[in-house]
Amino acid sequence: MSLPTPVIACTYSEIALKGRNRKLFLRKLLNNMQAMLKGLGGVTIHHVESRLLVRLHDETRTAEAAARLHRVFGLQWVSPAIELDRGPLDAELADDLDAGREPRLTAVCEAACQLADEGLGRARNFRIHARRSDRTFGLNSLQIGAVAGAAVHQRSGVPGRMVDADFTIDVLVLRASVLVFALKEQAFGGLPACSSGRSLVLLSGGIDSPVAAWMLMRRGSRCDFVHFHSGRTPEEADTGKIEDLTALLARWSPMPLHLYLVPVVPYEMRAIGAIDDSHDMVMFRRFMVRTAARLARRHKCLALVTGDSLGQVASQTLHNLAAISPDISLPILRPLVGLDKHEITAWSHRTGLFETSIRPYRDCCSIRSPRPTLAARGIDLLRLSEAMGLEDAVREAADAAVRRVIAPEA
Ligand code: ATP
Ligand code: MG
Repeated sequence: MSLPTPVIACTYSEIALKGRNRKLFLRKLLNNMQAMLKGLGGVTIHHVESRLLVRLHDETRTAEAAARLHRVFGLQWVSPAIELDRGPLDAELADDLDAGREPRLTAVCEAACQLADEGLGRARNFRIHARRSDRTFGLNSLQIGAVAGAAVHQRSGVPGRMVDADFTIDVLVLRASVLVFALKEQAFGGLPACSSGRSLVLLSGGIDSPVAAWMLMRRGSRCDFVHFHSGRTPEEADTGKIEDLTALLARWSPMPLHLYLVPVVPYEMRAIGAIDDSHDMVMFRRFMVRTAARLARRHKCLALVTGDSLGQVASQTLHNLAAISPDISLPILRPLVGLDKHEITAWSHRTGLFETSIRPYRDCCSIRSPRPTLAARGIDLLRLSEAMGLEDAVREAADAAVRRVIAPEA
């Protein structure tokens, strides 16, 4: 019997907890999945008993499709599976039971054996994990597991084991079909892209802010990006690394991302002679936040996002964070505020950002005065802002912003 076409079975996570809004989130999730699979030929997605079943016209692209679905926020598990039609299976089972024979479950056994052939490798034991979403099936989970387990054992000689098995084959009985799969990739959960409003991420060339952006994106925010550079033009500042980081983040987005490249020259020109060394770092941060807020309003973003982690560096003491932005009406979201550097770095690795984040780049923050105050006072910063003409610098910088629309890195 030839095996039927593959599907990719996906489960969703937090959306399942939503009440009346669930339909909206699901629709968004489905649209995002479609967008992420664009270019792979025809794709259909069906919502079947709390699962999203993805079928590709071109089966050879299943692995690539699964890899892309792994980056769709809102999905919890992604499993390329063999899908068996319930009709012939039920008929064979009814025959066997009527005749008082041992049930054969031929198609299930063949599928399980195929997966065992492909995946057992050096596994010392295996397990069949059978479940029924539809309980009208003629055998219960244990019986299904026993039949398929015996077939795999006979074929491979590898013993079955109920707990802590090296290799697991899942059999899931749905109303119209049975799914058999061995690969169960955990995706990243969260909420569907673009389900939670728009925010503007202050993106540096470092490790932290790209992870902060990823975290906001995972919560469904549509993120735009702003980067401050030290050249007169982005070309002069060589912002390729920042564009590459944005392109990596775009791999998690169903649509291209917007990056605004802003020169810091308007600040530098006014700060010389007006801002003392100890206040330069916090004033510069204040310039970035105020300029970002201006751009955010212009582009209808509801919040700013930074990669601050409390106390990590001098500009991130609680005193300084409080002093920098007393007059910003937009919320400033800091998703990394409670994480240690090694935890942030682990996320940077997990999300594939790290290698690009550590490429050399002359960030404008790294060329500031080495002895910043640890406890700036808001009132002093307001006075210095007035003295140096900070708002003129902000306006000039925001007006000089250059927009790049960045598609995912291939
Ligand atoms: P990161 O690893 O994100 O660079 P960091 O630990 O180096 O963070 P800072 O340099 O103090 O810390 O920056 C704190 C935050 O300020 C960054 O996470 C980012 O959100 C923002 N930021 C810093 N430099 C820039 C820049 N050149 N353009 C845009 N935002 C920036
Ligand atoms: Mg930095």
